[in-house]
Amino acid sequence: MIGDFEVKDEDLAGRIGILETKHGKIETPVFFPVINALKSEIGINDIIDIGFNNFITNAYILKKNNLVTTDIHEELKSQKSVIMTDSGAYQILEYGEIEISNKEIVEYQSKIKPDIAVILDIPTGEAENELEAKYTVEETIKRATEVEDIITSSSDIIWTHPIQGGKYLDLLKYSAQKANNNDKYKMLALGSPTVIMQNYDYTSLIDMIYTVRSNISRGKPLHLFGGGVPHIIPFAIALGVDSFDSASYILYARDNRYITRNRTLRLDKMEYFSCSCPVCSKYSPKDLLEMDNKNRTRLLAIHNLYKILEEIRETKIAIKEGRLFEYLQEKAYSHPSVYSAFLRILKYHDYLEKYDPRVKGEVRGILLYDSNSFYRPEIIRHDKFMMQFKPKHNLAVIICYDNLNVPFIYDDYIKDIAYEYENDADIFIAVPFYGLIPLSISESYPLSQFEIPTEIDDLTLKLTENKINEFIEKKYKQIKIFNCEKSKLHIMSV
Ligand SMILES: [Zn+2]
Repeated sequence: MIGDFEVKDEDLAGRIGILETKHGKIETPVFFPVINALKSEIGINDIIDIGFNNFITNAYILKKNNLVTTDIHEELKSQKSVIMTDSGAYQILEYGEIEISNKEIVEYQSKIKPDIAVILDIPTGEAENELEAKYTVEETIKRATEVEDIITSSSDIIWTHPIQGGKYLDLLKYSAQKANNNDKYKMLALGSPTVIMQNYDYTSLIDMIYTVRSNISRGKPLHLFGGGVPHIIPFAIALGVDSFDSASYILYARDNRYITRNRTLRLDKMEYFSCSCPVCSKYSPKDLLEMDNKNRTRLLAIHNLYKILEEIRETKIAIKEGRLFEYLQEKAYSHPSVYSAFLRILKYHDYLEKYDPRVKGEVRGILLYDSNSFYRPEIIRHDKFMMQFKPKHNLAVIICYDNLNVPFIYDDYIKDIAYEYENDADIFIAVPFYGLIPLSISESYPLSQFEIPTEIDDLTLKLTENKINEFIEKKYKQIKIFNCEKSKLHIMSV
């Protein structure tokens, strides 16, 4: 059925899904490039050639300029693309009021039949105060209700309910719950973080996405309006954002800004292109600078879109392989504000753990780096397991991990100790990040499937030692320690 959303793969709270539209199934996470029907620097065919089978365009502009009057797919000559239309809310954000009512724009959209459409909400934007923000929330909810009849009669369109509230998280929560309860809307969208994105305020963005996603049903796809920079896309996906749209690729291009996976650069400051998309393979920065505005903007826009698509794909690969956490860790070091986003996401570790699948098809060792790795779902789960652990004996035998082989049960040194103590003691291996691993379960994933650095930072050692020492103090009267003389882990003796 149109609007059905099926999750195929998950990692952290992110997922790969299939959304059914009138023009076929689209795989999420998906990015909708914004096409401005009035400015033709880049055409729909360019976008399709890059690899996008979908785009978003503004219904308000189409209507106001009489550009589309019947079926949008036919009029824009893109019968195979999945088309989303936005309502004009962005124009409200930019220019204040617009001369059209919610009802008119919803009626118009139901007439031109895009695959996905949005009601005319009131963006919170940079509301001056909470009262003003509250008005945008209430008005948006009211508007969603007032057009329910039109929406019901055009059920082959996936109608989107924007969620407002901006940085006011209580309002956002309220707005998310209200939108979620309105079952006429098959898609929900977090509105207007554009201003926040422009200010690189990624920690607020993370809080906003978390607040919305944790207050709506997992079964509903969540769209993020204006999430068009590659360095933040994986973080949004990890929290459960399923689709994005943005005009950043073209706005940046007009301003001679070149998007990379980690940052944006000024064309006039560049000597080389490291990218190998068709544009960068063919031209140098100098070539582009010497071109006329129109051609340069088009080519830069094409390159920028390649980068966004690449980022979406890379994130999907990370989800498939179950290494999204590691991917975020890698991205975090691209910029201090991205690092802040990463640390903020760790604040929601319980939420990430809750949805992170325990078992993935292919077993892959987890890569542990520094104290941030303590927040990995796998480590959190192990901590929870150890909290419930019931000793069988009064004696704990603890063997430091240094120079031992995994899986631990096959290591000769450990085998000898196990042979001697297995009837009188509970045997553990002490490993950085994990703390103690009971030998009896050490084969189960990922207690023997991990890679840790040979150099471990002091904080990680300290946190591991605290975990181990607290555990022993709480649960054992006696301990015996092996192989710890040269270890960096200092384990307290009882
Ligand atoms: Zn390129």
